[in-house]
Amino acid sequence: MLNIVLFGPPGAGKGTQSEKLVEKFNLIHLSTGDIFRFNIKNGTELGVLAKSYIDKGALVPDEVTIAMLKDQVTKNAGAKGFIFDGFPRTTAQAEALDIFLNEKNISVTMMLALEVEEEELVTRLLERGKISGRADDAKESIIRERIAVYNKETAIVKDFYEKQNKYKGINGIGSIEEITQTLCETIEQLA
Ligand code: AMP
Repeated sequence: MLNIVLFGPPGAGKGTQSEKLVEKFNLIHLSTGDIFRFNIKNGTELGVLAKSYIDKGALVPDEVTIAMLKDQVTKNAGAKGFIFDGFPRTTAQAEALDIFLNEKNISVTMMLALEVEEEELVTRLLERGKISGRADDAKESIIRERIAVYNKETAIVKDFYEKQNKYKGINGIGSIEEITQTLCETIEQLA
């Protein structure tokens, strides 16, 4: 099984690149952000709860996020593998994922991290906000808060995978095609 954690700050290109990779490698794309937005759109209890955090640029609590992720993995039993996009975002989530996959005798193959500097992220997200309709992309203050939360709570997840020799940084600046190419070459070496 090929289980990739696609990592990086908001606006690094995780969603865009995930779409390319799932097609090429026939994987299931699990984006916790997308699942939350789906729930918000459908007015579920989970959606109402998640929205109160997402609109502020804060993280949804671990307990809720981990339970949701486990549910999605279980629903897709039999998949060739997964691209985890936007998860794990805390060390507690990374630990929970490890334990959960272990119980199924599988594991994360590799964390691939898209590296993009902060000002470029802000520019990209403000641009995306013009068309995405996402409340959290609409205001620069919320965008900066999301990046600050990433630096404070999420960036450290790198250490968790580095300790397992499962971390690889990828330059996230360039054309979409160039970055896809680099990611594909890296994944092909793993398979
Ligand atoms: P994203 O689409 O990955 O940018 O996620 C949008 C928002 O959803 C984030 O800013 C968080 O509020 C929430 N979110 C997504 N994934 C997670 C996660 N793994 N843990 C906590 N909150 C999350």
